[in-house]
Parts: sequence; C-alpha cells; structure tokens
Amino acid sequence: MNILLTGGAGYIGSHTAVALSQAGYELVLLDNFCNSNPSVLERLQKILGKPLHCVEGDVRDTSLVTKTLREYKIDAVIHFAGLKAVGESVEKPIEYYTNNVQGTISLLEAMELVGVKKLVFSSSATVYGNPQYLPVDEAHPTGATNAYGRSKLHIEEMLKDVANSNSAWKIICLRYFNPVGAHESGLIGEDPGDIPGNLMPYIALVASGKLPSLNVFGNDYPTPDGTGVRDYIHVMDLAEGHLAALEYLSGYSGWDAINLGVGLGISVLDLVSAYKKISGRKIPFEILERRQGDIGECWAKVDMAYERLQWRAKRSIELSCQDSWRYICSNGLRKNI
Ligand code: NAD
Ligand code: UDP
Repeated sequence: MNILLTGGAGYIGSHTAVALSQAGYELVLLDNFCNSNPSVLERLQKILGKPLHCVEGDVRDTSLVTKTLREYKIDAVIHFAGLKAVGESVEKPIEYYTNNVQGTISLLEAMELVGVKKLVFSSSATVYGNPQYLPVDEAHPTGATNAYGRSKLHIEEMLKDVANSNSAWKIICLRYFNPVGAHESGLIGEDPGDIPGNLMPYIALVASGKLPSLNVFGNDYPTPDGTGVRDYIHVMDLAEGHLAALEYLSGYSGWDAINLGVGLGISVLDLVSAYKKISGRKIPFEILERRQGDIGECWAKVDMAYERLQWRAKRSIELSCQDSWRYICSNGLRKNI
C-alpha cells in the first residue's frame, strides 16, 4: 500500500514514517520544510536502510499534490502538514488558517480529483478546550481558545461534511495528547529550533546546560502538587497509532475522531524529576505565574482507541525521557539557542 505523508519530515511525521516503512508500507513524504530540515531524510534512510521518496513542496499547491498522488499511485494520506504553535497562532491567525485550513482544502481537492478517499488527520486534544471532566473522552464537548485550536476544529468539521457527502470517504481524526520522546536510534527527534514552548524539550535544554532554568508556570492548580498535569505519550507509540488507524481504515467508512494518549496524568514536577533521574543532571526551576490560556489538567480516556484500533500506548514516561535525552546528547540541536 502506498501512503502519502504530508509534513512527513516533521517531528511526528518522521517517526510515523519509521513505523509505517518497517511495517511494509511504501511511503512518499511531501514537505515544504518550513519547520523541519531536509537532513532528516538522510537520518530516516539510515534508520530504514533504504531510500525514501520525498517531494519538496507545499500542500496548498493543489496541482503538485494531485501530480504526487497520481505519480506514486497513493492509496491513503496521513495529513500532518500544518503550523502548531499556539502563541504564534494568536499573533498570526491568517497564516494559521491559510496553512492549516486552506492546506487541508487543497489536499481534499487533489484527493477527490484522483479518487483517493482514505485520510488520517493530525488533530489535537486542544479541540476539547478547558476539560469539563476527566479523563476526556471523545464525546466531550469541543471548543477552542486560540486560532490554532480553532483551525483544528474547523478541519475536523469540514472532514465530517466530506465523509457525509459520499460513503466512499474513510476519514479518521486522531486527537493527539502531548507527544514526547524520540526514536531509540537517537537520529530523529523533536527540534524546536527556537526557545521551546513545550515542556519536555525545554527541560531537555535545561538538563543539557543550554538554558539556565525551567520556568514552572503555576503551582496553584487544583492538582496533587499544584503544577499542570498532562498526558505525555511517547512519539513512537503515537506513530504506531497511525499504523493501527491505517489498518482500521480498510474495513471502515465514514468519519471518526479518536484520542491517542496514555490515559495517565503527569505533573510538571513529576516530569522534572523523571528527567533528572534519567539524565543525571541538575534541572533548576523557578515557580512563575500561570501561563495565560493554560488549563490545569488534561488526560485522555483511551478506550476507544483500543476498541476500534486495537492500539494502546506501551512506553513509559521514563523511556520517553531516556529517548529524548539520547537524542539531545547524540545529535544535539540543529539551531543554536
Ligand atoms: P512539525 O512542525 O514538526 O511537523 C509539521 C511538518 O509539516 C513540518 O515538517 C513542516 O515543514 C511541514 N509543513 C507545514 N506546513 C506545510 C505546508 N503548507 N506544506 C507542506 N509542508 C508543511 O509538527 P509535528 O509536531 O510533527 O506535528 C504534526 C501535526 O500534528 C501538526 O498538524 C500538528 O498540529 C499536530 N499536532 C502536534 C502536536 C505536538 O505537540 N507536536 C500535538 C497535537 C497535534
Ligand atoms: N510548562 C511549564 N514550563 C514550560 C513549558 C510548559 O511549566 O516552559 C507547563 C505548562 O504550563 C503545562 C505543561 O507544562 O502545565 C505542559 O505544557 P506544554 O506547552 O508542553 O503542553 P500543553 O500546555 O500545550 O498541553
């Protein structure tokens, strides 16, 4: 089976490429490298021991996507390409809607033209807004507090309409919780490029001495230690979730949204102490005010993923820290902070 991975050179796309290729799928990556580096392709080929097809281009270029779908006889698409920084989305909403929403429309047009009707979409737990109950299941009301989250919600709704229009469409929205860690080879991982907004890459830079200390955003949440609680999922577990979703698509028709998480809440301080233990480094931190727009806790109910996809996360938070640390130590970071 031939699969197109839009945004396949990015953090989650590259790890999914490993899982899919090792399971026997033929892959084509399409990426404009706006948030990744072409050198990831060499590193992927090193892990896989074989060449990988990559088309450099933008998912909004409908004729390029159409040509790619035809040329490589694509059977299904996993759509990772998009912008993902919450803060930036508030400052540049037009860029976010253009890239994320218009990018998806362009992809759908190309897929319709060529007759490719299987799609897995990278959605996010952010579509649940501030959780009304925990763990968050797929029936939880949706809502968004920023342009990034709203772009994901718009896309999900749009995909639902498309699936309702013709039973040949098979569409799954995977709602990721907090992806962390790296491939065990240490060759690919998360390269934030700038000062990281997310917790684990920030902790990694503090442990490596590149940043002096971690700012802990609030210790007055109603959580066991007062700091924010999230559901951190190893990126290779997430990658395998895509494999399970592709397999599920073959015997299915319609639209579905499924959580991909571990089902466990971990606090900021829990993560600091796990990373400290694994790295053997000091991780100084300072307690600051809550970050604007942050929620206290969010973790997933994961039963649907198991019932429908026969998938569940297997890797521990310690392994996530270990793999992240190996990536930082063996590979360093591309850009200087
Ligand atoms: P990433 O930025 O590492 O990867 C995205 C890739 O898409 C990059 O390689 C980038 O160059 C490419 N890209 C962006 N716009 C493009 C365009 N218009 N045309 C072609 N390529 C384009 O991000 P990631 O963490 O791998 O996230 C992948 C997807 O998962 C995104 O849609 C993101 O919103 C979603 N997601 C990520 C997280 C997370 O915490 N990492 C959580 C939930 C959902
Ligand atoms: N966080 C923090 N310091 C940081 C980055 C994040 O204390 O430098 C906290 C944040 O307030 C939240 C948790 O870590 O409670 C996870 O934040 P992240 O941005 O990684 O994920 P998200 O909030 O998008 O789920």
